Amino acid sequence: MSHPFPGLEALIPDHARLIRLWTGVTWGEGPVCLDNGSLLWSDIPGNRVMKWRPGGADDLGSVSVHLHPSHFHNGHTRDAGGHLYACSHGERALLRSTDNGQSWHAVATHFEGKRLNSPNDVVVAPDGWVWFTDPPYGLIQPHEGYGGEQEQPGCYVYRLNPDTGELQAKITDILRPNGLAFSPDASLLYVTDTSKSHDPAGHHHIRVYPLSGSQISGLGRVFQIVDPGLPDGIRLDVHGNLWSSSASGVQVFAPDGVKLGEVPVPEVIGNLTFSHLEPRLYIAASSSLYCLEVGVRGNAY
Ligand code: MG
Repeated sequence: MSHPFPGLEALIPDHARLIRLWTGVTWGEGPVCLDNGSLLWSDIPGNRVMKWRPGGADDLGSVSVHLHPSHFHNGHTRDAGGHLYACSHGERALLRSTDNGQSWHAVATHFEGKRLNSPNDVVVAPDGWVWFTDPPYGLIQPHEGYGGEQEQPGCYVYRLNPDTGELQAKITDILRPNGLAFSPDASLLYVTDTSKSHDPAGHHHIRVYPLSGSQISGLGRVFQIVDPGLPDGIRLDVHGNLWSSSASGVQVFAPDGVKLGEVPVPEVIGNLTFSHLEPRLYIAASSSLYCLEVGVRGNAY
């Protein structure tokens, strides 16, 4: 029998199938796994965060509303110590939780005295600093935030010390920075540009920047253009392959940019994440949450 996902034989077991765990959100984003095997993800237009709990062997698990109103959480991530981070469109802030998402407090709201736009996606570097993107989608889309004026002169990728609040703008040359992730050795930072979302002439590509410690050490270049749709959220596996959202499925690229293959998904994908507990990929796609057994572990950052 042929492999269900040609080109991905080394990354996904033969028997793996895409499983729809649940459907019923308006637009899902920001999945993050908790240490007990549960998963949180955002329903941005629904102004809520959902929680999926795993079930038994033949059970797809159960879903409940975890937070409502969520003030339009978007991306989530976790750090090595299990602290959670959330991007809040409504609060125009980056939030942290130290109690598994029960309570959240802002760790970044302003840069150089002006409010952030609407933080979108977040990842924690090996040194514990938090990197996040700040496009204006929560300001310009009435169903994804409380509106308001953009105060920042641009849309930046920030680096935050979550303990001191020190905030640095590290990348300022991307029109609409969105998803982001590090290579396994943290020598590269991948950032998506989804400016095509509101401008037919805009970008729908993934850029990659060389890093030297905490410094961007060179000009970014286009890693890959993603079609159809947009590369909203991205994740890397431990081998450095990049797994990107798109309108047709999860598109997987080798470290040199060559497209290896694709996992077709019947809905437009917002974000995806690897479980840190087991070899599984979770996909927040439009109205549904999907999972896929994989044969590789996700990179932790
Ligand atoms: Mg995003």
